[in-house]
Amino acid sequence: MYDVIIIGGGPAGLNAAMLLGRSRRKVIVLDSGKPRNRWARQMNGFLSSDGMNPREFLDKGRAELDKYGVELVNVAVKTATYTKGEFVVNDEHEKVYRSRKLLLATGLKDTLPELEGMEEMYGKSIHHCPYCDGWESRDKAIAVYGPERKGIGQALAMKNWSDDVTLYTDGTDSLRREDLEQLERNGVKVQKEKIVRLEGDGDGMLEYIVLHNGEKRPQQAMFFSLGMSQQSDLGQQLGCEFTSKGVIKTKRLQHSNIPGLFVAGDAARDMQMVVVAAAEGAKAGVAINLELQQEERK
Ligand SMILES: Cc1cc2nc3c(=O)[nH]c(=O)nc-3n(C[C@H](O)[C@H](O)[C@H](O)COP(=O)(O)OP(=O)(O)OC[C@H]3O[C@@H](n4cnc5c(N)ncnc54)[C@H](O)[C@@H]3O)c2cc1C
Repeated sequence: MYDVIIIGGGPAGLNAAMLLGRSRRKVIVLDSGKPRNRWARQMNGFLSSDGMNPREFLDKGRAELDKYGVELVNVAVKTATYTKGEFVVNDEHEKVYRSRKLLLATGLKDTLPELEGMEEMYGKSIHHCPYCDGWESRDKAIAVYGPERKGIGQALAMKNWSDDVTLYTDGTDSLRREDLEQLERNGVKVQKEKIVRLEGDGDGMLEYIVLHNGEKRPQQAMFFSLGMSQQSDLGQQLGCEFTSKGVIKTKRLQHSNIPGLFVAGDAARDMQMVVVAAAEGAKAGVAINLELQQEERK
């Protein structure tokens, strides 16, 4: 019986594990090894670790947990249930774990544009978050991918980072007259032609967007925002409440609506950054320990 099972070993889960390990709790982290930013070369915007490789960041975090006796297992969790103060978790090999408290730090996954060349360049010169990668794309010829009306907000926002911004609607024609006027007023170019493929330099850097009419448009970076979803269905299995944006509802210290179940990081937040996820993990770690202390006090 563990004090706490943490599902998800990204920044949220690992930071929670650190606080709980330091509180001398019996903790296990179960992680399937698919952090949301695994395609990225750099992790930006985290004070003191700005620009660090994301894998290196997690490896360093995992190594730091060693001295606190936290168990780390590389495995995917299939099911989790809660009955009468006890969580029962089953992994993909049918191994069963039990705990008094459970933390879900399972993150989100992004909807990616279905474009040839995408996989090779995602996380290198194709991004979704300007706060994470806008600086590295500053003053470049930036493309924003947004079929129908999905790219308007992001195209306008990217003017913060470059004067040269083009919105690609990929063969769709849903922009209204007022959208086109606003984009023009703000100096955003619009390209409605269908995209055939993205061409890069072989090292992940975008060079051209090739259009159906044969045109090859030079572009050095691309941004998109097509939505995201939970990486695991464990929140649903456990009966969590969700917000209209698809993240799990939590209170100030990461409590969910299920007693003893906490949620931290992207899975519970619509401000999705490593530093926020890590901070929420720390908050959850302290809140879980406080709850255990109260239950143990004689
Ligand atoms: C391409 C890209 C680049 C980014 N760049 C930046 C950046 O530069 N700076 C920044 O601050 N943010 C960046 N982000 C956002 C950042 O990745 C997230 O905010 C952060 O990873 C959230 O941490 P987390 O711990 O909540 O979730 P994650 O890091 O996604 O970790 C969740 C973990 O849970 C595991 N998991 C999920 N389901 C299960 C299961 N059933 N069983 C076991 N384990 C499970 C996953 O394998 C994963 O390891 C980027 C995102 C993307 C997509």
